[in-house]
Amino acid sequence: MRIARFTTGEDPLFGVVSGELDEFGQPADDAVLVELSGDPLYVGIKPTQTEHRLADVRLLAPVIPRSKIVAIGKNYAGHAAEMGGEAPSEPLMFLEPNTAVVGPGDPIYYPTQSEFVSYEGELAVVIGRICRDVPPEQATDVIWGYTIANDVTARDLQKKDGQWSRAKGFDSFCPLGPWIETDLDPQHFADGVAIQTHLNGDLVQDGSTKDLIFDIPTLIAHITAAMTLLPGDVILTGTPEGVGPMQVGDEVEVSIAGLGSLTNPVAAR
Ligand code: MG
Repeated sequence: MRIARFTTGEDPLFGVVSGELDEFGQPADDAVLVELSGDPLYVGIKPTQTEHRLADVRLLAPVIPRSKIVAIGKNYAGHAAEMGGEAPSEPLMFLEPNTAVVGPGDPIYYPTQSEFVSYEGELAVVIGRICRDVPPEQATDVIWGYTIANDVTARDLQKKDGQWSRAKGFDSFCPLGPWIETDLDPQHFADGVAIQTHLNGDLVQDGSTKDLIFDIPTLIAHITAAMTLLPGDVILTGTPEGVGPMQVGDEVEVSIAGLGSLTNPVAAR
């Protein structure tokens, strides 16, 4: 099931996106959204009789993390190498504020404090229930679904500050979307799913989730051994190699096979 959050110009609503995706993860032109009653994270999936053409609505970030985004650094060996370091021996965690989240099509605002803003295409895991001390074999029980993220990073500020809160935490630096796919499991991604980033149409990242150093159950166990996760919290699983700068006026698209694609323009702040 693909759960989207959307607006028709009024308050945000939730809906289920019907129909098959094409080979690029795009829905058919006649795809519809079946509107849901309330927030499915609180009340479950309660379809209404109302349908909207997908083309007629504006998709929003499919979830606003209830408390936090837990991001994982250097979780692909190729990316660890291009950053000039070793892959970490255990998952490298950092937090991003939920105020960094924007949705499909929303601008990524280029901060005046930075001269090097990079894309990082990533698989995102959305947590479905309050949890802590989750053993890896029970990780599936706490996952609500999966979506796409762009872990936008002010690379110069990341180096200058020595820790990453500002570099990763600017408003608009965590695009999420286009929806949450709830029917997949961690093994699907361990088997290998294509993750690509295009900058102005050029392929700049071309990875596979089979190259995750620490798989999704391991990440959930590691994170929840330290902190409680709440429904709607989001885990960013790391980016493959190929990161690089973006400029104002660029358009960046992150695609994950079976999940769709997430496109955002880069705009001056
Ligand atoms: Mg990242």
